[in-house]
Amino acid sequence: MTQLLNNIRIILINTTHPGNIGSVARAMKVMGLSELHLVTPLKFPDAQATAMASGADDILHNAVVHDSLESALEGVPLILGTSARLRTLSMPQMDVRAAAERAVIEASQHEVAILFGRERHGLLNEEMQRCHYLLNIPSNPGFSSLNLSQAVQVVSYELRVAALGEAGLTKAPLDYSPVDASQMERFFEHLEQALTDTRFLNPAQPKMLMARLRRLYSRARPDQNEINILRGILAASQRACATDFIKPEQTPVVDE
Ligand code: SAH
Repeated sequence: MTQLLNNIRIILINTTHPGNIGSVARAMKVMGLSELHLVTPLKFPDAQATAMASGADDILHNAVVHDSLESALEGVPLILGTSARLRTLSMPQMDVRAAAERAVIEASQHEVAILFGRERHGLLNEEMQRCHYLLNIPSNPGFSSLNLSQAVQVVSYELRVAALGEAGLTKAPLDYSPVDASQMERFFEHLEQALTDTRFLNPAQPKMLMARLRRLYSRARPDQNEINILRGILAASQRACATDFIKPEQTPVVDE
């Protein structure tokens, strides 16, 4: 069980209050989680964080601080984004119990990340778009937002319960290896460039195209072979399009 929980990283984005980071460390440690990652925390390390950790200092000490979400997601093929709110562009959603089961099952195969947002504004849409699922803790619809560390506590508790009952989990493990977050990002950059080159995407009026395509490909969770094929198709379209533009018969004929 320890190994399973060690494969699940808690990522806090842009946390304002260092006390919350300390409370998160404590919330994690009581449930046997250890991997804390901090993306651009406002103040860390800090005495308030240490005070609130009340003994979970090892988690704080080992916390990895990143200057970008990209770096915190390196090597992670399953990403869950927590939110009290539903988003404009809806994405696959799970309550915390179902999400914890999914996370524990995949943690036996690879790294899993769970993202937590800022105290005031939660996760930005572009951060949520990096996630495969939205994880929601069912709460009072009129007052749905938990304190950051309390949200981490509920999630960590469910992860522990799922890990304890691991043998009885009903969901099937994946029978292939989806690529990690950085590979997906490189694919999305390539896709956007190819769509621009082929004029399908007008950068001046991108609308929701990339957000929708992200959602589509994130749902598919491609493996390395599939990513290679997709990128091969993109590269071929870019080449075809580039040669088309310089073909002599395609240059406008000017009547003299
Ligand atoms: N005002 C923010 C809430 C921030 S609470 C907003 O409207 O989004 C800080 C973080 O705690 C959130 O980003 C999320 O990671 C977590 N959180 C709080 N309530 C939650 C809930 N009901 N379900 C899942 N995560 C929650």
